[in-house]
Amino acid sequence: MAHSTDYYETLGVSREASAEEIKKAFRRRARETHPDTSDHEDAEERFKALNEAYEVLADPQKRETYDRFGTADPRQTGFSGGSAGGGFGMGDLFSVFFDGMSGNFARQASPEGRDMSGQVVVTLLEAADGTEKEIRYNRLAECGTCDGTGAEPGGQVTMCPRCHGTGQVRTARRTIMGTFESVGPCERCEGTGQVVDPPCPTCQGDGRVRVTETVEVKVPPGVMDGVQLRVPGKGEAGLRGASGGDLIVQVRVAPHETLHRDGDDLHGQARVLFTVAALGGEITVDGLHGPVAAKVPAGVANGDTVSVKGEGMPRLRGSGSGDLIVHINIIVPKKLTKDQRRLMEELSASLGDGHEHSAFERIRDWLGV
Ligand SMILES: [Zn+2]
Ligand SMILES: [Zn+2]
Repeated sequence: MAHSTDYYETLGVSREASAEEIKKAFRRRARETHPDTSDHEDAEERFKALNEAYEVLADPQKRETYDRFGTADPRQTGFSGGSAGGGFGMGDLFSVFFDGMSGNFARQASPEGRDMSGQVVVTLLEAADGTEKEIRYNRLAECGTCDGTGAEPGGQVTMCPRCHGTGQVRTARRTIMGTFESVGPCERCEGTGQVVDPPCPTCQGDGRVRVTETVEVKVPPGVMDGVQLRVPGKGEAGLRGASGGDLIVQVRVAPHETLHRDGDDLHGQARVLFTVAALGGEITVDGLHGPVAAKVPAGVANGDTVSVKGEGMPRLRGSGSGDLIVHINIIVPKKLTKDQRRLMEELSASLGDGHEHSAFERIRDWLGV
């Protein structure tokens, strides 16, 4: 049987549940599902899932991470930053949002640096041509004084005596329901397995310091809205030389004033005078890089489209570009000069009422009945 991965569901509490409610719910469910007392066939599995849920929801820090990212594993949180989606306002243009910088690092469950996530907003033109965007953000970077070791130059890095270098310790807790054994990060070395003596004065032994970083992000031509670019090594540095995270930048393409993207193609609108529509000809339409010429066939109808080859977005796969698809809006002048009116009347008389006669009607006309 598959278990719910929703920790709140597992514990049977609401998302707003207080710490006390979570504790009570855990005790009640633990009594029900404990493998020693429950004869349910997958009691052990249920009990494990319950413990996992409680471990996360009982820890305010882990709970916050879980609420924001749907996981309590800090290494997975970079990809699911909360700022994606939603509409654009002008105020959002060129702004950058970062997740992953809040929280108490001393209590981080793993010595590895986390991925960080950010966002850049580009115009459709920039998305077509490719661009470079500068991002400024704060991150924990490797300490330059100790090169990330956390030890004062000349100091020593030794194996942690508490966890013997594993970075993890087992703790047994006796409770009314029995003894619970859990494995967690070693507090002495913060999970790194090493201790430093004396610690680096710049980073106090963490091996990393908070810096304001400027990163240049290359946005490739043809980039789609929502694409995530990874900048290796520009997330959080790891604790005392542990592996660091990456910076993951989501590209948002702001909507264009007149053009609308559909895959590699762009869609635009053109106003075409009814005479041009009738006779056909060349018109000028707004393309992404400025005015482009489009051919309109004689007899084009309102709502028809004409394509301008190669004036769309560059193809991400393969070469060349998509097309500019122009939607025709036929316009009729509101006012006519005397001469224009006379010509129009002649034309109108020549065309008749514009009603196309059916074969049946034509035969009837011919027969004169
Ligand atoms: Zn240092
Ligand atoms: Zn340790």
